Amino acid sequence: MSTLAEVRLDETAVDELRRSFEGELVRPGDADYDHRRKVWNASIDRRPALIARCASVRGVVEAVRFARRTGLITAVRSGGHSLPGLSVCDDGIVIDLALMKGLRVDPEARTVRAQGGVLLGEIDRETQAFGLVVPAGIVTHTGLAGLTLGGGIGWTMRTFGLSIDQLLSADIVTADGDFVRASDAENPDLFWGIRGGGGNFGIVTSFEFRLNPLGPMVLAGPVAWAMESSRDVLRFYREWIKEVPNEVNTIVVHRRAPAMDPWPKHLHGKHVVIVGFCYAGDVDDGEKVLRPMREFGSPVLDACVPMPYVAHQALFDPGLPWGWWYYYRGCDVAELTDDVIDITVEHALRIRSPKTSFPIFHLGGAMARRGEHETAFGGRRAGHTFNCGGATETADGFDEEREWARGLWAALEPHHVGAYVNFLQDEGRERVQAVYGTDKYNRLRELKRKYDPDNFFRLNQNISPD
Ligand SMILES: Cc1cc2nc3c(=O)[nH]c(=O)nc-3n(C[C@H](O)[C@H](O)[C@H](O)COP(=O)(O)OP(=O)(O)OC[C@H]3O[C@@H](n4cnc5c(N)ncnc54)[C@H](O)[C@@H]3O)c2cc1C
Repeated sequence: MSTLAEVRLDETAVDELRRSFEGELVRPGDADYDHRRKVWNASIDRRPALIARCASVRGVVEAVRFARRTGLITAVRSGGHSLPGLSVCDDGIVIDLALMKGLRVDPEARTVRAQGGVLLGEIDRETQAFGLVVPAGIVTHTGLAGLTLGGGIGWTMRTFGLSIDQLLSADIVTADGDFVRASDAENPDLFWGIRGGGGNFGIVTSFEFRLNPLGPMVLAGPVAWAMESSRDVLRFYREWIKEVPNEVNTIVVHRRAPAMDPWPKHLHGKHVVIVGFCYAGDVDDGEKVLRPMREFGSPVLDACVPMPYVAHQALFDPGLPWGWWYYYRGCDVAELTDDVIDITVEHALRIRSPKTSFPIFHLGGAMARRGEHETAFGGRRAGHTFNCGGATETADGFDEEREWARGLWAALEPHHVGAYVNFLQDEGRERVQAVYGTDKYNRLRELKRKYDPDNFFRLNQNISPD
């Protein structure tokens, strides 16, 4: 049976592309088609007509020009971790950068160049070989490209800022298939827009970041309490974080304890509240600074120890693997008021799936030092960002878990002060506008009209040109 996708693509044109294309073209019916169309979130199941796996900048240019000629909807993919699955589409074209893995650290200049297909674990491994780091996210198999273009929050953001705060330049293929560079000196308007504006303006084939010294050892890991004490833990935490230095990076997670290291057997399946720590500084200093929080109440687990930064970066990996079913809704809050804490705990106690966990990132520190309008990123002044998420291993029970996540998000609605763009679902224009605020959204629209007036790049948190 032929799919709509096969019918719509002109075979002669595809054959012609195949002759010159630098990379691999994958079509429905090819042996690896099902593997290549898969994204991290298994609840997304889409069947593109063509996957263009680019091996070079020229390959990206060819793919963009080809996609423009076909008029088919086009998705751009790097790590495949878009929460709503925006990097794959039905019956269209996927321009996939996963083969573009080039990485080069300059330890003297303290910079790194990374191609568009690099994953977080790959860049960490390379930069940590020199005791250096780019601030990025908390799961090693996430794509650097999608994460950076939305801002990039993680274990060192309060110390070194967002990923975009360390970005020096980017190489970009525009909607016309032109190659441009964006930096403070070249196309500064575009450079402003790609720092938080997502994939709206072109395909980034390479990033250049400034590096910061860190590790290789850091004091990091989870400390957990029974969820029944979460109200007290969070009230103490709220006061404690007011005084901590920018080296302290923490993420609060509510979940049922997983049956894996470092959790002892008697805790498996129990509802717990976790404060994950990363002290991005001297380990001995960290011991002193983190002590009051670690000693609060009666923790059921303390696995916060000196460990290599790259090991810490991988701690969340087993809890968020490829192939489970996931649903997330993101929102920022100004602070953890009593009401926010009560809502959080009340909903968390009702978590059913052992796979569900939702992070609350503590923002501020270095990321809040930059002006709200210095980059396109929206939400530098927020206190915390929630990623209300539900997960199941298969489709079984997924609908209930999704409803639970929606319920938490909705209950927090009176306290929303925006959202992190990379934690949005596919929620439409109003929500995207809420992320940036009216002034910035209008500036982004102007930029969109200049670089992509036809909205070729529209499978993203879209800035509509009209
Ligand atoms: C397990 C997991 C953990 C996460 N942890 C964090 C975290 O700690 N911090 C954080 O900030 N975010 C985090 N996120 C969210 C993450 O930032 C986004 O999902 C991001 O889009 C992932 O990037 P990707 O390249 O893997 O995504 P993809 O699905 O490949 O792409 C997502 C979107 O980014 C755009 N895009 C991708 N590549 C390019 C490119 N080369 N040029 C232009 N546009 C492009 C496209 O619009 C695409 O639709 C996490 C997500 C997951 C699934």
